Amino acid sequence: MEQTLVMATQNPFKLAEAKQILEPLGFRVLHPKEAGYSGDLTETGTSLEANATQKAEQLYKATGFHAFADDTGLEVYSLRGQPGVYSARYAGEMANAEDNMKKLLLEMAPMDERKARFRTVIALFLNGCLHLFEGSVDGHINKAPKGAGGFGYDPVFVPEGGDRTFAEFESEEKNDISHRGRALRAMEHYLKHLENMP
Ligand code: IMP
Repeated sequence: MEQTLVMATQNPFKLAEAKQILEPLGFRVLHPKEAGYSGDLTETGTSLEANATQKAEQLYKATGFHAFADDTGLEVYSLRGQPGVYSARYAGEMANAEDNMKKLLLEMAPMDERKARFRTVIALFLNGCLHLFEGSVDGHINKAPKGAGGFGYDPVFVPEGGDRTFAEFESEEKNDISHRGRALRAMEHYLKHLENMP
């Protein structure tokens, strides 16, 4: 039976990736507005787990639907895990993706050690109970942005095993190995397992 989940996000790229992964697996994924919610989604935590939980809980409480949220951070080893949970605001409160990438490339200009990972935490409120899932992908930060696909830091992130940035990947190809793809498939695996229980 098709299961409906609302995604606590205002980011159309995240929603598109979640739909692309979950809908072929038998889930209906709604934007908050489709569940009757047009308020803000606050995130004031100091960890990906706290922020994902906060967003999913707000939406679950407001709509009564099963709700999930993704919080993602880019963790750079030579920056001791920064920008991490502050990835969206790395270059300031009003920063856009370009500002954030520019700041990151500037900070890292003298660095040869460029190892990084994307990490996604998904919080799912299912019948009012919280479940957390995680996915990550290792790679490195390129010296300059490349590619026109994806969003956020994709033009500077090169996943392990090649030399293309995520912005040079087809969307299906990114979803197959990405932090978000892995976290979403962990959630799907859990939900399918529940469905198959006697
Ligand atoms: P948040 O999870 O919405 O707080 O996103 C944190 C920051 O990471 C934002 O600047 C996003 O644009 C960026 N981000 C989230 N997911 C991805 C991704 O899959 N690729 C590149 N950047 C991402």
